[in-house]
Amino acid sequence: MAELVLEVKGLQTHYKLDQGIVKSVEHVDLDVYRGKTLCIVGESGSGKSVTARSILGLVDAPGRIVGGEILLHSDKEGGETVDLVGLESHGKQIRQIRGKDIAMIFQEPMTSLSPVHTVGNQIEEAVLLHTNVSKREARELAIVALRQVGIPRPETRLDTYPFQLSGGMRQRCMIAMALVCKPRVLIADEPTTALDVTTQAQILRVIRNLQTTFDMGVVFITHDLGIVAEIADDVAIMYLGYVVERGTVREIFHDPKHPYTKALLRSIPRLGATGVDQLESIRGMVPNPFNRPTACPFHTRCDSFMPGKCNTTMPPITRFGNNREVRCLLYGDEGSDSTDLGVEA
Ligand code: SF4
Repeated sequence: MAELVLEVKGLQTHYKLDQGIVKSVEHVDLDVYRGKTLCIVGESGSGKSVTARSILGLVDAPGRIVGGEILLHSDKEGGETVDLVGLESHGKQIRQIRGKDIAMIFQEPMTSLSPVHTVGNQIEEAVLLHTNVSKREARELAIVALRQVGIPRPETRLDTYPFQLSGGMRQRCMIAMALVCKPRVLIADEPTTALDVTTQAQILRVIRNLQTTFDMGVVFITHDLGIVAEIADDVAIMYLGYVVERGTVREIFHDPKHPYTKALLRSIPRLGATGVDQLESIRGMVPNPFNRPTACPFHTRCDSFMPGKCNTTMPPITRFGNNREVRCLLYGDEGSDSTDLGVEA
């Protein structure tokens, strides 16, 4: 059994606005294991990125974590487990954990890399912040990191600015900066969405190779089920702030249970499909966050909707063995363990 490195339990992140409260993340549970990839999947507005930012304490005001725990387990025997929710978002402890234990890469590196500093400066700064090495050693570590992510001639590339590099190269530099301190968890928020498919494949290969080298737990956020099939060990499907289904990648693709997961899988383009086989789409739109459906959040779009039930009762989590969970009223009677979390309908 792989070592559990990060555990999210009942996480709730809300935004208090003049128009009302947006419940971006509601009662989310996730487990991240060393050497394994957890893919978080969902449409825009499902709460994937807010979940990731909550883990690192990077939720912008007026957002706030209002419930739950984010437990970072120690890698030393008998070491202390830290609840990241209890840490001050600009405090010393969370700043030490960010980059050193948990690192993050974003969709668009230009928004994360400083345009006025060379990539070398930025990678060296990450090293100097988290380790006790000299400037010269930090430069050498930056060169090693750039080489590891496949940048040719890293000794000279170190002195270039982000705008002098292509999108793929910039994303590689971002990965080098994230991984230079060998974190135990890497959170990748749609890191390949802005890239062409060839560069996307190269970046995925880089992340996978480095994951094996450093035995990292990876949380990969995406809406692309093709990527999920390629890289995931475990999958969490999110809809309107809730994790509606969790399981291994095999379970999700071969035995999907939640109507939303089934609809997502039906909407993947297939090789060899003819004009007669029309690509299915999920009907309707993700509801307005200020006007959430009552009870099951998916009931306004669900083909299995049961009137008088799905719109009045919030589905509890139904468990089918280890880490296999579904939040849907179609389940819960046979061979499963149903838990009511006391979530309001
Ligand atoms: Fe569909 Fe009802 Fe299940 Fe919600 S609880 S996903 S509406 S069947």
